[in-house]
Amino acid sequence: MSDSKKTKIVLASSNKGKAREFRALLEPLGFEIIMQSDLGIDSPVEDGKSFVENALIKARYAAEKSGLMAIADDSGLCVDALGGAPGIYSARYAGEHGDDNANNKKLLEELKKHRNIEERAAHYFCALALMRSGDDPVPLIVQASWDGYIGFEAQGSGGFGYDPLFLVKGRKMTAAQIPMQTKNLMSHRAKALMRLVYALNHRNS
Ligand code: IMP
Repeated sequence: MSDSKKTKIVLASSNKGKAREFRALLEPLGFEIIMQSDLGIDSPVEDGKSFVENALIKARYAAEKSGLMAIADDSGLCVDALGGAPGIYSARYAGEHGDDNANNKKLLEELKKHRNIEERAAHYFCALALMRSGDDPVPLIVQASWDGYIGFEAQGSGGFGYDPLFLVKGRKMTAAQIPMQTKNLMSHRAKALMRLVYALNHRNS
């Protein structure tokens, strides 16, 4: 299908890795993914109290500013022993936004007293919101999770964020040790994207 025939969707993110994942799944369905940064659209204040609320805030803002359909994701890590922290604050757990090393160091520190791996259960979550316009009363919303445990030290060099600490449930590897293609089939974001594709295909049925 030529690009002019595709339905344009603005991705409310400036993350090129995410854009690759979204393109791979949505372009075969006839959508063209445009990054909001390429349209000069900035980011709104994410002041929701849940992943879903933040995904909606970002998707609504991008749809309003662009006049196009928009999609946004919001994700993070929740650790049972920490009452769900860092949660929606995952990117800025240690203070500065996106400082992965500092975030991982703080997480190990907070879990220091939990010496049994079973006490270190953790879950990545991803919420995706798709809005056909800024005032769409029926946004498409999907969520997915990925279960694991927080290890005792960083292992692996792949992935990003908390991946070197995130021991994937059922595997003896962290998310930073498994191949990227495997992560992209089993991660919270991959599963949410597949659910979104399903929901898009069945939207009016
Ligand atoms: P955002 O959804 O891009 O704002 O990501 C939120 C934060 O959650 C990231 O900065 C990471 O700290 C964490 N996070 C979300 N998904 C992942 C993942 O797949 N691996 C590692 N960290 C993640």
